[in-house]
Amino acid sequence: MTNHELFERALKLLPGGVNSPVRAFKSVGGEPFFTARADGAYLWDVEGKRYIDYVGSWGPMIVGHNHPKVREAVEHAVRDGLSFGTPCPAEVVMAETITRLVPSVEMVRMVNSGTEATMSAIRLARGATGRSKIVKFEGCYHGHGDSFLVKAGSGALTFGVPTSPGVPAANADLTLTLPYNDLAAAQTLFAKHGDEIAGLIIEPVAGNMNCIPPQEGYLQALRELCTQHGVLLIFDEVMTGFRVALGGAQAHYGIKPDLSTFGKIIGGGMPVGAYGGRSELMEQIAPAGPIYQAGTLSGNPVAMAAGLAMLELIQAPGFYETLAARTRLLTDGLQAVADGEGVPFSTNRVGGMFGLFFTHERVSSYAQATAADTAMFNRFFRGMLERGVFLAPSAFEAGFLSSAHTDEDIAATLDAARAAMREARAG
Ligand code: PMP
Repeated sequence: MTNHELFERALKLLPGGVNSPVRAFKSVGGEPFFTARADGAYLWDVEGKRYIDYVGSWGPMIVGHNHPKVREAVEHAVRDGLSFGTPCPAEVVMAETITRLVPSVEMVRMVNSGTEATMSAIRLARGATGRSKIVKFEGCYHGHGDSFLVKAGSGALTFGVPTSPGVPAANADLTLTLPYNDLAAAQTLFAKHGDEIAGLIIEPVAGNMNCIPPQEGYLQALRELCTQHGVLLIFDEVMTGFRVALGGAQAHYGIKPDLSTFGKIIGGGMPVGAYGGRSELMEQIAPAGPIYQAGTLSGNPVAMAAGLAMLELIQAPGFYETLAARTRLLTDGLQAVADGEGVPFSTNRVGGMFGLFFTHERVSSYAQATAADTAMFNRFFRGMLERGVFLAPSAFEAGFLSSAHTDEDIAATLDAARAAMREARAG
């Protein structure tokens, strides 16, 4: 069976041929490949072609694919059953591990995806404050909950409108949007609506409009603004958690959010999410408190085993230093290749995540990210794919390194990039 044959079959039965939109390669052009297996830094498609993978299942695979320790933990757990519907010991160990690694999280609730985590955190923020409005940032993604699918207009202080049909206006009107890295806009919004806002949710390093780190002092200023106005600060660390540092972006930047959400790495490749924060807030969640949230498969023993094995591996001494150094090797290398080829190009990176932009500018805003040359990115993506390098199939996604990527993988990536940049430039 070829990739094309599978995609033809899939298109008849799955919307767009996929179970999650960006996988379809719609924005970059061409058809997706179907992965048969994955190991370390590589994916192999059903036709036997190998790819150096910088998507890492969209973040979870920080120790590389199919790590023996994670696989063995899963194999071991499976022997005892797949789901119990009662508490299991691994959930307690998971909660102990998360609260130890992320001190702002005193209590935690496990869920099954990042989307569930953010939806639940917002409900908690609303329930705990008695306020209805929330604030998010244009270009930030927090899963597909109705409150988050709100278009980021250039008029950042206006009420949001849904980007997605199906989100009721009554719901979208409660979501206020702000431009990322623009403190003055946040101050103005809070001066006007501060006492109506339940929570402000932010990706502490934006990873869903390509990769945009917060400017110096920005997160701290938001922290102070939230405290001043009784607004709960929610760090969506679904992507950044255990990615940019062991303790997440909050450890990297030294900020204490009220609530945090997690996903991806925490599940080791299984469907897991989590939200947590101060005990006095978390104790308002059912059955300790009245704010309802539940899940048939939450705290699943197999998923907990995978996540725990992953969290064990990333605590190895020097893990994040090495990961950051490799990421730097890649982004510096790509910059040198682009400069050599006369291609307008810049990069961002924090820890093990990075962004590539086809522009001369250093990108720190949504406006800049969307103004970069996406057509050139798409040509570059296809050139890289052809040469066996898999980048995220969109100009608005972050890339991820894993501890399985070697210097040789990076050297091979840079070789591919030299040819792909030349092609991309030629148009
Ligand atoms: N928040 C952030 C920051 C994310 O990057 C994502 C997914 N990429 C989500 C939430 C949603 O997570 P999930 O896809 O597991 O629902």
